[in-house]
Amino acid sequence: MSSNVVVAVDGTSGSGKSSTCRGVASRVGLRYLDTGAQFRAMTWFMLEQGVDVNDAEAVAARCAEPSIESGTDPLAPTIAVDGVDVSGPIRSAEVTAAVSPVSTVPQVRQRLLELQRSIIGEGGIVVEGRDIGSVVWPQAEVKVYLSADAAARARRRIAEHAHLGDVNTAEAGLLERDRIDSGRATAPLTMADGAVHIDTTHRTLDEVIDLVAGLVADADAVAEDHVAEDRA
Ligand code: C5P
Repeated sequence: MSSNVVVAVDGTSGSGKSSTCRGVASRVGLRYLDTGAQFRAMTWFMLEQGVDVNDAEAVAARCAEPSIESGTDPLAPTIAVDGVDVSGPIRSAEVTAAVSPVSTVPQVRQRLLELQRSIIGEGGIVVEGRDIGSVVWPQAEVKVYLSADAAARARRRIAEHAHLGDVNTAEAGLLERDRIDSGRATAPLTMADGAVHIDTTHRTLDEVIDLVAGLVADADAVAEDHVAEDRA
C-alpha cells in the first residue's frame, strides 16, 4: 500500500534535514518537497531583479511575480524560476546570506504557503522547512524536529560545500540564520506541537533515516487500523 501520510520535518540550518528527508522519501516511496529551496528561489529572483532584500516593502511588492516550480522526486529534486533551473545558483553564498531577511516578509510567506499546500495536496510526501508542522501542515501525521550542535552543523556544511570557507565563518553564518529564523514575527522556526525531537549531533545519517522511517511505518499502521475499524 502506498502511503498518503504527510511527514513534516522542521529544524535549524544544517541539522541534516535535506539528507534525512530525501533518504526517508526514497526509502518509503514518498514525494519530497524542499521548502527552503522555494525561499531561496524567491531570494534569487529578488537579487536578479536588483531588489534590496532588506527593504521588506520592496520585496513584498515583487513577490507575486516569479513562477516557482518544485519537482518532488527525492532522487532528483528540481527547482525552477520562470522555467529557468536555479538549483545551482540558489546555493550560492549571496543567496544564502540574503534568504533569511527575504523569508521574514509576510507576503513572501503567504505566497509560498499557498504553493506548498497545493503541492502537498493529497499527501504522500516528506516536507522539510522551518514552519511545516506548526503552520503549513499542522495536521501532518508525522512531525519531526531536527537539531544539532552548531559546531557539528558547521563541519557538515564545510564538508558538503568546501567553497563556503572555514568552519568558524560557517558557524557564524548558521547562527545568524537561526537567530533571524527563530525571531521573526511570522511563522518563526519552532518545535511544533506533537513533534518528535531528534538531536542528530552524534547520530549517523542512516540512524536518523531509520528513526524517521520508523515513525512513518507507525503512522501507516495507525491509518490502516482506522480503515479496518471503518469497514467493521
Ligand atoms: O533549508 P534552507 O537552509 O535551504 O532554508 C533557507 C532559508 O529559508 C532558511 O534559513 C529560512 O530563512 C527560510 N525558510 C523558511 N521557512 C521554511 C523553509 C526555509 O523561512 N519553511
